[in-house]
Amino acid sequence: MGGVSTILRSQTIMLLPSGLCAQLEFFSKIVRRFDMPIHVDSHCHIFTQRIVRDMKMRPKLVHELKLNVDRAFDRLEPRVLHEYAEEHDIDLCLLLPTARSDKVIEENRRFIGFTRKYSRLRTLATLHPLMSNAEEEIRFVLDSGVPGFKFSSFSQKFDICSPEFAFLLEKVERIGNICKTSPVLVFDTFDKGVEFFGADPEHITSPKKLSILVQSHPGLRFLAAHMGGLMHDFDRMRRDLAPASNLFLDTSNAAHTLTEDQFTELLRSFGAHHVLFGTDWPWFDATSERVRIGGLMRKADYSQDEQDSVLGGNALRLFGFEL
Ligand SMILES: [Zn+2]
Repeated sequence: MGGVSTILRSQTIMLLPSGLCAQLEFFSKIVRRFDMPIHVDSHCHIFTQRIVRDMKMRPKLVHELKLNVDRAFDRLEPRVLHEYAEEHDIDLCLLLPTARSDKVIEENRRFIGFTRKYSRLRTLATLHPLMSNAEEEIRFVLDSGVPGFKFSSFSQKFDICSPEFAFLLEKVERIGNICKTSPVLVFDTFDKGVEFFGADPEHITSPKKLSILVQSHPGLRFLAAHMGGLMHDFDRMRRDLAPASNLFLDTSNAAHTLTEDQFTELLRSFGAHHVLFGTDWPWFDATSERVRIGGLMRKADYSQDEQDSVLGGNALRLFGFEL
């Protein structure tokens, strides 16, 4: 059984095939389907063709991150992700939009629209410390049932330890309290934005800066993408980002850049209830990533229930998703 992450799925009524063996086979399939744990991909993107083309023009980065760029061109539409999820037993996929300050509201509406059209898609929203009407937008997003916000500070061009961002987080926390929710904040943790995208070094979400936010905002919940630091120096990351009750990691992309020993060390030290399965769609997909992450979880001696929690149960709890 998949523990708390197991739920009953709706079944289609079918005519029983004739013959005892066929009936037994039919019932065994039903039982297996009832017992299947929930699978959630907690890290997905809906990119434009320009973004994928832009990435393709950086072959060194594509190679280091092992991104499936050519495949991504066929995976730009939200419909493709929804259909992939249906075909591969992914119950929910979480979209993570980001935008510059003057495009935040437009992007948030666009992504919320995707979730209304496709039943297997859910989304976070984004914010920017320099946007106007932040309070109204936070209120709108939380009232819409969206459980949190995604930030990519190096591409959105702000410092997560700046006074402007502290002011924004104060609003998120205050309005979250009014709405009786504890928003989840997802941070991209890519370390090479300076080298590959010419980003301002101050705009990188480093494990040290993220740790400061985690400790200073116990009322907010933080999800550090890519197991806490994509392409960061591992030893420094381990020193700077300690496990905390309000800190979670997602597995996206990290198994391609960390060694097996490094990855399993993170699984052991953060614990099974603080890790969420994610793929970084469209660069990777759940079929191959479930195998890869499953092997690493077994290596870290996670029980079957713990593995099921990482694959979906933790996301249901953290984001409060219902199927
Ligand atoms: Zn990503």
